Amino acid sequence: MRIVQELLFVILFGTAVYLFSRKAGQIRKNILLGRDNDLNDHPDLRWKNLLLLAFGQKKMFRNPLVAVLHFFVYAGFLIINIEILEIILDGILGQHRLFVPVLGGLYPVLIGLFEILAVLVLTGCAIFLVRRNILKLKRFISKDLDGWPRSDANYILITEIVLMLLFLTMNTADQALQGRGAAHYIPTGNFWISGILTPIFAGMSDGTLEVIERGCWWLHIAGVLAFLNYLPYSKHLHIILAFPNAYYASLEPKGEMENMPAVQHEVQLMLQPELAANAPASDTMPKFGAKDVTDLTWKNLLDAYSCTECGRCTAACPANITGKRLSPRKIMMDTRDRLEEVGRNIKANNGTFTDDNKTLLRDYITEEELRACTTCNACVQECPVSINPLDIILQLRRHLVMEESSAPAEWTGMFSNIENNMAPWKFSMDDRDKWATE
Ligand code: SF4
Ligand code: SF4
Repeated sequence: MRIVQELLFVILFGTAVYLFSRKAGQIRKNILLGRDNDLNDHPDLRWKNLLLLAFGQKKMFRNPLVAVLHFFVYAGFLIINIEILEIILDGILGQHRLFVPVLGGLYPVLIGLFEILAVLVLTGCAIFLVRRNILKLKRFISKDLDGWPRSDANYILITEIVLMLLFLTMNTADQALQGRGAAHYIPTGNFWISGILTPIFAGMSDGTLEVIERGCWWLHIAGVLAFLNYLPYSKHLHIILAFPNAYYASLEPKGEMENMPAVQHEVQLMLQPELAANAPASDTMPKFGAKDVTDLTWKNLLDAYSCTECGRCTAACPANITGKRLSPRKIMMDTRDRLEEVGRNIKANNGTFTDDNKTLLRDYITEEELRACTTCNACVQECPVSINPLDIILQLRRHLVMEESSAPAEWTGMFSNIENNMAPWKFSMDDRDKWATE
C-alpha cells in the first residue's frame, strides 16, 4: 500500500512540475519575442529595487492597513509553503513528518508559526473577498475586469482559504492522533493553533481521524500543485514575476521619455548642418514606435505578464477619472492577451508567426484610448510592481503619428511648426529672439 501511495505521489508531483515548466517555458519564449533592451546596468540599484519594491512591497505601504493584510497573504502563503518541502519529501520517501528528528524542539515552534500565518492568510483573504464582492471598491467593479479577470481574483482567494483550512485540519487531526499514541503519528510537540483545536475531533475513531488527516494531506498537496499550474493563466503570476520585474525596472527619472535615435540624429543634423556632409548614409528606413507586441521591448512584455490587475494605475489616471476611455490597467491586460495570442499562433505554426490580420494597435487598444493619455506618469508612480503602462502607450502613439501620419487635425499644425521652425509656434527660427529687442 505504501509503495502505491509513493508511486501515486511521484506521478502527481512529476506531472505537475512538468506541466508548469512547459507553460513557464512558453511564457519565457513569449517575453523574448520583444525587442532587445539592455537593462543590466547599475546592479546595486536594481537589487535595492528588488528588495524594497518586490520583497518589501514598499509602494503597498501607502495604505498601511491594506499593505499589512496583503503582506500577511503574500508572505504567509510563501512561508507556509516551506512546509510543502517536508510534504513533498514525505510523499516521495513514504515518510511522515520527516523533519521532526532533524529539527527536534524547533519543529513545533516552526509549525506553530506557520499555523499563525495560516490564520492571518485566512483572515486577509476573507477581507479581500469582502472588499471585492460586498464593498465593491470602484477599481474592482470596473468593466476592465468583466468576465474571467474578476472570477480569477475570487478563485485565487477562495483557493488560498481552502488550502489554509486543509493545512490546519490536517495538523489538528495529526495532533489528536499523536495524543492517542496512534501508530505512525510520531510525537512532535504541541502545535500552537491545531493543538487547541483537537477537542473538535474528540468523539471520532482513530480510523476516521486517519482518513481526515490523510485526506487533508493529499488534498493540500494536490491543491498546491494545481495552484502552481493555475498561476501562469492567472494575474497571480505576479507572485513570481514581480521579482524580475522590480529588478529590471527603469532607473531613469519618470518624466524622461526615451529618445528615438533616428529622430535625434535628424534633429542634430538640423541644428548642426555642417555634420551632414560627414554623416554616414543609411539604406534602411528606421521603424518608429510599435504596432504589435513584437515591436515592444521584452521589458514591456514582462510588465504585461507581471500585472496584478489591481487597478491602482487606473484609479490615479486623470484621463480615466475624467471619463475618458483610457485605462492603463486595460493597456497591460490587452498587451498580455495579444502576446498570448501571438505565442499560440507561433506554436501552432511550428515556430513561425502566421499573419492573423490583427495587431495590438486597434484590435486591442484603440486610437481613442491612446490619445487620451496626458503622459503624466501617475500610472507608473502608482504601480506596486514597477510596471510602466505609459511606455507602451507612447510606443503605440509614436507608430500612429510617425508611421501612419495619423493624428488629430489640431496637432498637424504643431507638427509642421516643429519640423520647419523647431518649435511648436508658427514663427520662423530667425524671428525667435526678436522679443528681446523690444
Ligand atoms: S500617463 Fe497616461 S495612462 Fe498613465 S496615468 Fe497619466 S494619463 Fe493615465
Ligand atoms: S499596471 Fe500596476 S497598478 Fe496597474 S493594474 Fe497592473 S499591477 Fe496594478
